[in-house]
Amino acid sequence: HLDITGLEARYGKNTVLSGIDLSVARGDVIGLIGPSGSGKSTILRVVMGLLPPVSGSVKLDGQPVDYAKAADVRRLRDRIAIVFQQYNLFQNMSVLQNVTITPTKIKKRPKAEVEEEARVLLAKVGLGDKLDSYPDQLSGGQQQRVAIARALALRPEILLLDEVTAALDPELVSEVLDSIRVLANEGMTMMIVSHEMGFIREVASRVVFMASGKIVETGPAAQIFDAPTQPRTQDFVSKIL
Ligand code: ATP
Ligand code: MG
Repeated sequence: HLDITGLEARYGKNTVLSGIDLSVARGDVIGLIGPSGSGKSTILRVVMGLLPPVSGSVKLDGQPVDYAKAADVRRLRDRIAIVFQQYNLFQNMSVLQNVTITPTKIKKRPKAEVEEEARVLLAKVGLGDKLDSYPDQLSGGQQQRVAIARALALRPEILLLDEVTAALDPELVSEVLDSIRVLANEGMTMMIVSHEMGFIREVASRVVFMASGKIVETGPAAQIFDAPTQPRTQDFVSKIL
């Protein structure tokens, strides 16, 4: 369970997030939407400890995270994983190695167990037959699905996805969305930043609309897309549909 309260973040003198209040409970699929530059990625970056907040708090299962403490950040990254638009696979490692390297080398889990789990995860994302392939032998959609499996191999309680289909050719988008849909149906807790509005509408249990570094409106997909209450949301929705 993640509780974000009164979060503020800056790049230099620019305040890019302010007054962000957001809770993510077990099983939630939060769809984070909004115009370019509204602060969606920044929220995920702050949560992961990649950008220190100026003020506000992030609590994980009720415990405040002190981002100045390496141990707190480590504990957080044990429980929350993130996948970016750029999948950044290790080019010199096979698909299976990409997925198993961190759990075995950093987390020191038993290799046989990790490999078994990795095979299951890779099958789940439709890559059960690509275990020995190298990233440069895969399509962008396949590589992104490896990146998702690699994040899941960390056994996160919450998975953050930041525009994971944005860099893909259009015909490769749906295979990645299919994998995310499977996770959502299994009850995986996720925060999904995406411009794929149809997909967000379908999988999100709650949609959060941001503009100019603030949360403007939050609600079920039907409310945000069909009956938004805020003019800023109405304006955004009218342009995307
Ligand atoms: P997009 O949909 O384009 O990905 P976003 O909602 O994810 O947009 P952010 O990347 O969170 O937006 O950016 C929020 C604000 O912070 C923007 O005004 C952006 O210019 C600024 N910003 C983002 N990254 C940096 C950075 N590394 N240095 C300085 N300013 C940044
Ligand atoms: Mg972004």
